[in-house]
Amino acid sequence: MSDPVRIAVPTKGRLQDPSALLLKQAGLRFERGERSLSVPVADTPFELLFVRTEDIPELVADGVATLGITGLDVVEEAAVAVDVSAFLGFGRCRLVAAVPEGDSAGTLADLEGYRIATSHPLVVGRFFENKGLSITTVPLRGSVEVAPRLDVAGAVVDLVSTGSTMKFNGLRPIATLLESEAVLVTNDRDRNGVVRTLTTMIRAVVTARRKRYVMMNAPSAAVDAIAGIIPGIEAPTVIPLAQAGMVAVHSVVDTGEVWRVLPKLEEAGATGILVLPIEQMIA
Ligand code: AMP
Repeated sequence: MSDPVRIAVPTKGRLQDPSALLLKQAGLRFERGERSLSVPVADTPFELLFVRTEDIPELVADGVATLGITGLDVVEEAAVAVDVSAFLGFGRCRLVAAVPEGDSAGTLADLEGYRIATSHPLVVGRFFENKGLSITTVPLRGSVEVAPRLDVAGAVVDLVSTGSTMKFNGLRPIATLLESEAVLVTNDRDRNGVVRTLTTMIRAVVTARRKRYVMMNAPSAAVDAIAGIIPGIEAPTVIPLAQAGMVAVHSVVDTGEVWRVLPKLEEAGATGILVLPIEQMIA
């Protein structure tokens, strides 16, 4: 039997559950035991390797795993050669520069000469160097927000999703250095065979999550108005019904648009409107 194709997935933390869910929705069947570090995926050549989120870029670059799921910020900080082959739409956060409330700095240029505490020293060092600004990084693994209060640094660069932790710690954001989300990475440039198949399946799930399938009945005379309301990628599907002068209209709508579109469809004469989730979609 040939070697398994390993997929490195986060063993704990914020990305653990959404990563497992994504793989399951992409059609992989696996059961993770309490302490298992790797498990086979039924009826496929894949094996899941459960490792720390921070170690994943390195393990993929070294060829220990062929694919991996981790944060874009982690990939940038690892500075190893891996390809990002899909953006996964969860684990969204921003790498933000912030100063204590009382500090006068208002822009990145004002941070020239500062000591900056950060969980991402490589990204921060590179970022300021590219801007021609000289700063000193103070690498910290956690509790970055307390560094100014301890006089360890004058500013911080840390990951935020809502920004409430920074605010709670008396910090004022001044700029975003990087927008991050979970990504699929690979060392297989050509994405051959099963790597290509899995990448396609994962992308299909991520695309489908942003869409809803909308079905309704309507008088034929209302079809033009309905087509004008639905901002779909293509013209809607129109199917004649047994009742003369009536049709069924099917289309795909962005999830965020549904609330705006439904009342208009009703006004245009649509009835029996159904909104359904889509499992997988290749646009
Ligand atoms: P973990 O420390 O294992 O929970 O995972 C950290 C990763 O989760 C980061 O590298 C980011 O890619 C992602 N993430 C998403 N939101 C946040 C957040 N608010 N703070 C830190 N990490 C976040």
